[in-house]
Amino acid sequence: MTATTENLRDAALFGNRFATEEVPSREFPAAGMTATDAMRLVAEDIALEGDPARNLATFVTTWMEPEAQRIIAGNLHRNFIDHAEYPRTAEIERRCIRMLADLFHAPGETTGARTQGSSEAIMLGALSLKWNWRKRRQAAGESTANPNLVFGGDVHVVWEKFCRYFDVEPRIVPLQPGKYTIGPDDVSPHVDENTIGVAAVLGTTFTGHKDDVVGINNLLLRIKSERGIDVPLHVDGASGGFVWPFLYPHSEWDFRLEQVHSINVSGHKFGLVYPGIGWLIFRDRSDLASDLVFEENYLGKTDATFTLNFSTGSSMVLAQYYNFVRYGRAGYSYIMKNMQENARMLAEKLQDTGRFTLIGADEEQLPLVAFQLTDRSNFNEFDVSWQLSAERGWMVPAYTLPPNAQDVTIMRALVKETMSREHVDTLARDIVDACTTLEKKGGAHESERRKMVTGSGH
Ligand SMILES: *Cc1c(COP(=O)(O)O)cnc(C)c1O
Repeated sequence: MTATTENLRDAALFGNRFATEEVPSREFPAAGMTATDAMRLVAEDIALEGDPARNLATFVTTWMEPEAQRIIAGNLHRNFIDHAEYPRTAEIERRCIRMLADLFHAPGETTGARTQGSSEAIMLGALSLKWNWRKRRQAAGESTANPNLVFGGDVHVVWEKFCRYFDVEPRIVPLQPGKYTIGPDDVSPHVDENTIGVAAVLGTTFTGHKDDVVGINNLLLRIKSERGIDVPLHVDGASGGFVWPFLYPHSEWDFRLEQVHSINVSGHKFGLVYPGIGWLIFRDRSDLASDLVFEENYLGKTDATFTLNFSTGSSMVLAQYYNFVRYGRAGYSYIMKNMQENARMLAEKLQDTGRFTLIGADEEQLPLVAFQLTDRSNFNEFDVSWQLSAERGWMVPAYTLPPNAQDVTIMRALVKETMSREHVDTLARDIVDACTTLEKKGGAHESERRKMVTGSGH
């Protein structure tokens, strides 16, 4: 329906033009509209989005305290990078870096960076590995032609992205059926004098477990003493960096291990901040290649930046600091333990149905449940995922693992801060009901299955 003068007048008085009009979607709008119309247009579009409370696929924070939200809303107009104008925000960034270095047991004076998330932190950390390797090779008068980076098939896609964007050979250790993390024996054959570093994961996106960081550290120490090759270890703690210090404080994976030179962590995952924040922490100032730091003065004061982006909001840095001082070790431990307890409860309930097998539930793990069907003769995990979403709106993804475990399908449910015991009980019942439906109809239809969202979350 096109707008007549009459219905424009009625819309202004009683409601909203876009109750019946098509929304602008192709051409850059010639005329504007009232603020109320624009607000309702956007809000009504967004009303069809999924419900974050039922999205058990994502690792990213979907809830913060009202007081934190006030800090966020109150600082949306500040550009984080403008340190000359906002020196207090810059100071708060440095406080967060020092606090994280302390949490990760840095031995002395350190440095780091606020980033947009772990992806940017990993790009910057890996660039630093590449630059430091090149410096070592040049100093020794050796070739700098063929850098490589060693990591397992259990890493996030960003590691391969780094290798492609920045011209480094990826040496990917394949997984095996039944073995979904890597250790020293897997890494050993791939390390040589052109290895810029080894990346180990703390809390994989696939099953929530950690690579054998202690074993890989010991291997790299042995290589250093026996072959004189000093290969740094970077820990991708995107999820695990805010979980292990609180659930498994005595488990060593951080700067307590000598070859660990850098760590990334996502503030917007278990750091409990809304999307848009990550951190890169170096063991020592010398681990940050100085050539990667740029000095500029056009915002009014000479400033050093180490970042892929430039302008960005201040709010999430302030929200991260809010969480650190609000919760402290005691508060983060309390929240992590609640999530773990509820994850264990969900795991127990799924196991008790007799339908599911848990994956590595007795090992150190992120607060999640990774599980598979015990009997796949009538329907598979993709069917369960689809049916559960169709019946009850839960997003519990099913996905296949990376090579050479690509024949293994699993499901994974994140148990986050907002998932109460009541939600756990309801979800467990809904999963049982979905299986009952599937049994009756003999699996989901092929067309239904194709529509289903797959993938490992993010
Ligand atoms: C989520 C994740 C990333 C990417 O982090 P973002 O903060 O989303 O950029 C990298 N590695 C691991 C292990 C992750 O879980």
